[in-house]
Amino acid sequence: MPPQPLTLPFPAEYMVTEFDALGYSRRCMVGTAVLVGGYALAIAHIIPSIALPLMVLLVLPRWMINVHELLHIYDEQQLNRFICLMGVSPVPLSVISLSYGEIRTQHFAHHAAPAHASDPDLYHIQGNWGQAIFNAFTSPEQSALRWINRHGLTPQLAFDLAIKLMVLVALAVLGGSLFIWFWLSLRLVYGLGDLAFFRLVHHQRGEYGTFSLPWPLWAVQLSTLVFGATVTNATLNHDVHHQNPYLAARALPAAAIAHTGSMTSD
Ligand SMILES: [Zn+2]
Ligand SMILES: [Zn+2]
Repeated sequence: MPPQPLTLPFPAEYMVTEFDALGYSRRCMVGTAVLVGGYALAIAHIIPSIALPLMVLLVLPRWMINVHELLHIYDEQQLNRFICLMGVSPVPLSVISLSYGEIRTQHFAHHAAPAHASDPDLYHIQGNWGQAIFNAFTSPEQSALRWINRHGLTPQLAFDLAIKLMVLVALAVLGGSLFIWFWLSLRLVYGLGDLAFFRLVHHQRGEYGTFSLPWPLWAVQLSTLVFGATVTNATLNHDVHHQNPYLAARALPAAAIAHTGSMTSD
């Protein structure tokens, strides 16, 4: 059954604002600069290569959630072209992955019927853990191929894919073997993030639906420390997000308390 809208009147300051949106897009660009700058510094042997996976761990989940928050605010005409082009990651995960416009349409279809037959994200929610893990780790390609199969390849998407191919080739040529470790780090962190943001919050105890993740306080604090409040709030309170997609991520813990009386984040 689709989620029932909450009837609680939330304070106006809980709603997402233009100020929030500017912060999301600014953090995407800062994260990109950190990641690409770190890659260049590692190539130049100024920082150790072990710093790269750590940078990916800090930057990529933030990019993923900031882009998710932007999906609910801006269409592709309102957002800067770089974020629209890159879509799921500031560094291409694949030569085959969707751009922002397609991701946005797909995400709204996910919101319309989460974990139901018409949900385009059902394929990386359903099945046993082996299937869920495989589908999460191949979701950039699978989502793109499923989209193209259904909607065709627009000139804009084809252009974006060609740019991604050129970026990947340039990064590989510049980095050599370092690129392999950089790319594997991106794929590993993205796959784990995908599992958390789709499987864990839409399939629990054998049931399909939309759920919170009631983590213990120490885990919430550790997640906030490593990934930041936006990642933590939006993931742990995914049920409240689905019921009220226009609430800002910063307000989700308070909204969850108002709704259920329980706290999943502080
Ligand atoms: Zn959403
Ligand atoms: Zn969802």
